[in-house]
Amino acid sequence: MTESIALDDLSTGFVRHRESDARQYHELGLWRDTPLWRLLWDQASTTPEATAVTDTERCLTYAELADAAAARAAGFAESGLRPGDRVIMQNQNSVAFAVNLFGLLRAGLAPVMTLPAHRINEIAHLARASGAVGYISHDQAAGFDYRSLATDLAARVPAVTHLYVDGDPGDLSPPPVGDPTSAPATPNDFDPDSPALFLVSGGTTGLPKLIARSHNDYRHNAEKSADIAGFSASDTYLVALPAAHNFPLACPGLLGIIAVGGHAVFTADPAPDNAFELIEKYRVSAVALVPALTQVWTAATEWEPADISSLRLLQVGGARLAESDAIAANQAFNGAVQQVFGMAEGLICYTRPDDDRQTVARTQGRPMSELDVVRIVDENGNTVSDGIEGELLVKGPYTIRGYYRDDDHNARSFTDDGYYRSGDRVRRTASGHLIVTGRIKDTIVRGGENVAADDVEENLLAHPGIRQAAVVGVPDATLGEKICAAIVVSGPAPDLPAVRQFLAGRGLSTFKQPDLLRVVDSLPLTAVGKIDKRTLLKRLTPEAGTAVTVGGPTGSPTG
Ligand code: AMP
Repeated sequence: MTESIALDDLSTGFVRHRESDARQYHELGLWRDTPLWRLLWDQASTTPEATAVTDTERCLTYAELADAAAARAAGFAESGLRPGDRVIMQNQNSVAFAVNLFGLLRAGLAPVMTLPAHRINEIAHLARASGAVGYISHDQAAGFDYRSLATDLAARVPAVTHLYVDGDPGDLSPPPVGDPTSAPATPNDFDPDSPALFLVSGGTTGLPKLIARSHNDYRHNAEKSADIAGFSASDTYLVALPAAHNFPLACPGLLGIIAVGGHAVFTADPAPDNAFELIEKYRVSAVALVPALTQVWTAATEWEPADISSLRLLQVGGARLAESDAIAANQAFNGAVQQVFGMAEGLICYTRPDDDRQTVARTQGRPMSELDVVRIVDENGNTVSDGIEGELLVKGPYTIRGYYRDDDHNARSFTDDGYYRSGDRVRRTASGHLIVTGRIKDTIVRGGENVAADDVEENLLAHPGIRQAAVVGVPDATLGEKICAAIVVSGPAPDLPAVRQFLAGRGLSTFKQPDLLRVVDSLPLTAVGKIDKRTLLKRLTPEAGTAVTVGGPTGSPTG
């Protein structure tokens, strides 16, 4: 086989689970050996008339959604796309997102799930790395024109020849529509352990990596999550975070709600005035948010008039939720908070409905599956006892065994015996819940002392006037690095001496106290809404550029 033929093949560079593990997952019925798109079609044959998806413009039943996706699949096939081809998807939260996603899956194409906030550098990199031949997006959103991105992409990566744009395609083509009854049949040699779709790693320190999730592992991810969330056909899930992210996509998210025959309502605007209205209008029962949004929603319950009493599950994850914020949110939303800690690479932890409020406020949940194998190790790779901090390593039925076509990262990010090195610093409680204390590498080395950024942040957040805090190390000729705290305040800003005095009062060691304080209007966020420390550092010290490490082994400070 020549190299170009090999790279055409979806499975080239995909790291499979070990045979003995895969056998066990099959035998236990966790892996169901069906194409991922079956999630939708199984439901469409059971409850065709039930409402499946809604956005500001339209609303489709299960039968209509399956039909639209089949027509799209047929269109893709007629346009020359072949099973196994990769297609970059960059859609806004909308019904079109669901149609395109299920259309691609139904045609045997593997979508690369990029976020609306990704720009040409990342998209071109992901297209090259995945060997993509297609790109599909909306025309424009939030002042950004995706048609020019598409054109730029085709110029930079000539292999990308199929460009489709929803809305006003301009010089490009609208997504193709064929005869739904001629949607391609699943090939006889269909392999349910092959990649169904690609997620992208949430790194802010380098270009994102491709995370290939198989039909088997991803369906299990969505179904098991739906089970833990208690999802049923009477639930309505608000897709408020960018739908291509693992959290709103499959934890349980869009795929989880479709799996049970519930209703997914899409919004591209998660601000509380809009979101609360949707909650009232559609009797939304579940939503997933990042901590920064949770703070805003919590505050908004004070003045937004909408009736949000239908909301029974408010999932918060993606970044660390301060205990005080968890308590405030639980009060504001009648105990609806569920903490979620996970990663696109696999492992997802949830607090459970029967956990007491203290566990929900203080921990990031426990692994979703009994088959998840979690090890917490010290810097020498030795397993530590419960209560002791260490790096989280994990393997299991829905955790990848390697990034796609990335031997270099795989050598660093996976152990020889198949565990994913998360780069997250955690400790386990006696009940098996995990407490995330930070990133292994999110440490400032000040005058030879290691200072964990999150330790300082947690203490800063205890200050009643500090709403958000992020701590980074800035280069310093004498100390190596100085501790710089960027804060967002909710009233008059405290000055550095006042902050230091407050922290000293909480017992924080002197060497951990900020040397510099910057009051900012807002903290920069990553594509999915986590604090972006790399950008923050550049803003605070433009001259320092990329000199200071803030990421972990998997490349991201907060993921
Ligand atoms: P992503 O790949 O975008 O899902 O990001 C995964 C990373 O986000 C994890 O490895 C963690 O570093 C971080 N993360 C996700 N959820 C939480 C959480 N609840 N608390 C702290 N960090 C989190």
